[in-house]
Amino acid sequence: MDAPAATTPSSTPGAGRYAPSPSGDLHLGNLRTAILAWTLARRTGRAFHLRIEDLDRVQEDSAARQLEDLAALGLDWDGEVVRQSERGSAHDAAITHLVERDLVFECYCTRREIQDAPSAPHAPPGAYPGTCRELSPAAREAGRARMRELRREPALRLRAGTRDWTVQDLWAGTVTGSVDDLVLRRGDGVVAYNLAVVVDDAAAGVDQVTRADDLLSSAPRQAYLAQLLGLEEPTYAHVPLAVNTDGARLAKRDGAVTLRDRLERGESTADVVGRIGDSLGLPGCRTAADFLERWDPSALVHEPWVVELPS
Ligand code: GLU
Repeated sequence: MDAPAATTPSSTPGAGRYAPSPSGDLHLGNLRTAILAWTLARRTGRAFHLRIEDLDRVQEDSAARQLEDLAALGLDWDGEVVRQSERGSAHDAAITHLVERDLVFECYCTRREIQDAPSAPHAPPGAYPGTCRELSPAAREAGRARMRELRREPALRLRAGTRDWTVQDLWAGTVTGSVDDLVLRRGDGVVAYNLAVVVDDAAAGVDQVTRADDLLSSAPRQAYLAQLLGLEEPTYAHVPLAVNTDGARLAKRDGAVTLRDRLERGESTADVVGRIGDSLGLPGCRTAADFLERWDPSALVHEPWVVELPS
């Protein structure tokens, strides 16, 4: 594996971050990722920022509850909490910058059409097959007319100039992954996650992205997009997922999986932090500060965390 760049002190300390979607209370897997994001940032002298990714899937009060829970674990953060929904003008400016360089095209495909289209040679499953990339002016007009009928805007896609890109990840090492003509703005007008995350991380000085490893495959396309926008490509730390005893990604339906659930069942916050420490081979942690002291980058746990809880 490559040198663990994410834990090497940087000559110009940047920032780490945690960026939850406010779609409900954070479960143990989310809390574990948050503690690690904070630990990795603080251990390397970086600032630590929080960003609420509220472009969709917003549940009333969720963000406030998430912040309370993170503070209860002992995490602290620098500056104001950023709300992604308030960053529209920066997202628009990034898209305009790409449009001006002819790196954006309109896409009139429905999700179904993309799924059913034969994929391009060597493209990974699910990759955009390039349907609208090189349309004639007449075909574009027809596409726009169809969008008007569907009462939708065309999606905006990146005209990607590469098929893959390489990133450095603390857990996974050097990762080369595919880059397709990713969506920049969706057909419902909402800016796409991949664009927002790149623009918002860079604006906050984030050069260390820690999150769950279900997003590892998005990292190469995000780093490529950062490079196109003239932004620093971050290093990544994709934390193994928390799963239930069937091996499926941990979810609310698995029972008492949030901090508040555990407190209601008579555990303390320190117990919950301890459980998270155990999952990382760091027994005896009672507060986030204990992670900071005991974190050992040479002893990364690579397996998913199988969460077994007393009910
Ligand atoms: N908002 C995403 C989530 O809660 C994380 C995105 C990211 O960290 O880049 O899963």
